[in-house]
Amino acid sequence: MSKGYDVVVIGAGPGGYIAAIRAAQHGMSVACIDEWKNKDGKNAFGGTWLNAGCIPSKALLESSELYHRARHEFSKHGISTGDVSMDVAKMQRRRAGIVRQLTGGIGGLFRAAKVDGLVGHGKLLSDKKVEFTPVDGDPEIIDSKHVILASGSGPIELPFAKFDGETIIDSWDAIELDAVPARLGVIGAGVIGLELGSVWSRLGSEVTVLEAMEDFLFMADRDVAKVAAADFKKQGLDIRLGAKVTSATVGKTGVRVDYEDKNGAQSIEVDKLIVAVGRRPYTDGLFADDAGIQIDERGFIVVDDECRTRVKGVYAIGDCVRGTMLAHKASEEGTMVADLISGESAEMNYDVIPSVLYTNPEIAWTGKTEEQVKASGRAYKTGTFPFAADGRAKAMEQTSGMVKIISAEDDDEILGVHIVGPMAGELIAEAVLALEFSASTEDLQRTIHAHPSLSEAMHEAALAVDNRALNYPNK
Ligand code: FAD
Ligand code: NAD
Repeated sequence: MSKGYDVVVIGAGPGGYIAAIRAAQHGMSVACIDEWKNKDGKNAFGGTWLNAGCIPSKALLESSELYHRARHEFSKHGISTGDVSMDVAKMQRRRAGIVRQLTGGIGGLFRAAKVDGLVGHGKLLSDKKVEFTPVDGDPEIIDSKHVILASGSGPIELPFAKFDGETIIDSWDAIELDAVPARLGVIGAGVIGLELGSVWSRLGSEVTVLEAMEDFLFMADRDVAKVAAADFKKQGLDIRLGAKVTSATVGKTGVRVDYEDKNGAQSIEVDKLIVAVGRRPYTDGLFADDAGIQIDERGFIVVDDECRTRVKGVYAIGDCVRGTMLAHKASEEGTMVADLISGESAEMNYDVIPSVLYTNPEIAWTGKTEEQVKASGRAYKTGTFPFAADGRAKAMEQTSGMVKIISAEDDDEILGVHIVGPMAGELIAEAVLALEFSASTEDLQRTIHAHPSLSEAMHEAALAVDNRALNYPNK
C-alpha cells in the first residue's frame, strides 16, 4: 500500500531538514528522506553541514585557535603555561561528540514536529511519486502533493589529482585526520583551503596553498583581501597565487605536486594533499528520467527565484541549485519554499546573504564589494575603522583588521559592509539587518552601540563614511 504525504523532502541537510520542520509547522504531513552515512558506517541526519562541513570544521578551528593562542598569545596577558601540547585524538573526539549530539538533535526535532525522518534513498518519479528505498529494505512508493529536492553537493575532483582517501584527500578526510601531517599541501585558496589550512597549520603542519587565480580571495573586497593576505603570511601559511597545478603523484616519500606559475614549472612535495577547488551539485540517482527535472550545464537543478523546478509542485533548494553554497542560504530557501507551499507569500533576498570565513582574522561581508559598486556606475562613499582603535579589540589582543562600509552618494543607502578582524562572523549580523531594511549610514551612526564592544567599529565606520569618526582621524 503506498503512503501519502503533503510534502516529501529528499535530503536532511540544512536545506531539507529546515524545510521539513517549517512545512510541519504549517500543519502539513511531512516526510524527510536521507541516506547520509558517516565514516563509522552509521546513518545520520544533517548532511554535509553537520557531518562533514560547517560544524566539524568550526570545532577544529576553535580547538586549534585556542592551542595557537595558548602558545603564542597567553604570555602577553602575563599567563605562563610551560609546554603546551595538543592531544589530536582528544580534539577529534570532541569534534565527533559535537557532531553526534547535533545529528541526534535533528531526530529529536523531527519527532517533536511530527516529521517522519526516513533513512534511505529517495528518488523522484513522475507525478510527484517518490521511490523510497530504506537502508535495509525494499523500495516503496510514496505519494506526495509536493516534493522538495535538497540533495546538496560533493567535492570537485581534479582528473590529475584523484582522491585516494589517504594521501590525496577531500575536505571531509581533512577534517577527520588523526595526526598532524608534517607537510600539508592544499589546492585552492578558497574558503575550505583557508579554513582547513589554518587548522592544521596552527597544529604544526607546514602548509603550502596553491591557488590558480592571481588575485587572493577574488570574491572579497580588495581592502579586506589585502589585510587577510598579510595576516595569513605572518601566521606562516605559504599561499602561492597564479599556481596552475598540472599533476599530483603519490610516491614513497609523499605526494609530488607539479604546477606552473609566472616563473615556469615548479613542484612541491607534501605528506598529504587536500584538494579544495569547489563543490559540485550532487544529484546522482535523485530523479527518474521521466520526472521532468531540468539540469543546467554545470549540473545544478534549474529553478526560478522561488526555487520552483519546471515540474509543478516540485521544488529544489540549497547546494543543488544556483547561488552560493552556504548552509544559511539552503535553510532560508527551505523556509521560503515551505511557506510558499502553505500558501503564504515569501521571498529570499539573495543580495544580502552574509559570507564568513572562520579564519583568524575572521572575514565577513554582505552586499556589494567596492569593486562591484564601482563597476555598477553608482556614485558611492566609503568609511573604514581599524580594530586597532577599538578598546574591546585592544583588551582582547585582537587588533588586526577593520570594518569598511560602502554607501550610496545620493541617498546614503548602505550597499556593502566588509569586515576583517575579531568576531567578524558575529558582527556582520548587524550589517545584514541594516541592508535588509535598506538602512543608511546615518541610521547606523544614530544607533547606540554598547561600549566597549567590537560593534563600535561598525558605528565608527558608519561615521567615517561622512568623515565624522570620533576615535580615529578622518580622511
Ligand atoms: P547537504 O548539507 O549536502 O545535505 C544534503 C543531504 O541530502 C545529505 O545528507 C545527502 O546524503 C542527502 N541526499 C542526497 N541525495 C539523496 C537521495 N537521493 N536520497 C536521500 N538522501 C539524499 N556553509 C556555511 O554556511 N558555513 C560554513 O561554515 C560552512 N563550512 C563548510 C565547511 C566544509 C568543509 C564544507 C564542505 C562545507 C561548508 N559549508 C559551510 C557549506 C555547507 O555545508 C553547505 O552549503 C550546506 O551543507 C548545503 O546544505 P544542503 O541542505 O543543500 O545539502
Ligand atoms: P571555493 O570556490 O571557495 O574555492 C575554490 C578555490 O580553488 C578558488 O579560489 C579557485 O580559484 C581555486 N581553484 C579552482 N581550481 C583550481 C586548480 N585547478 N588549481 C588551483 N586552484 C584552483 O571552494 P571550496 O573552498 O572548495 O568551498 C566549496 C564551497 O563550500 C564554497 O562554495 C563555500 O561556499 C562552501 N564553504 C563555506 C564555508 C563558510 O561559509 N565558512 C566554509 C567552507 C566551505
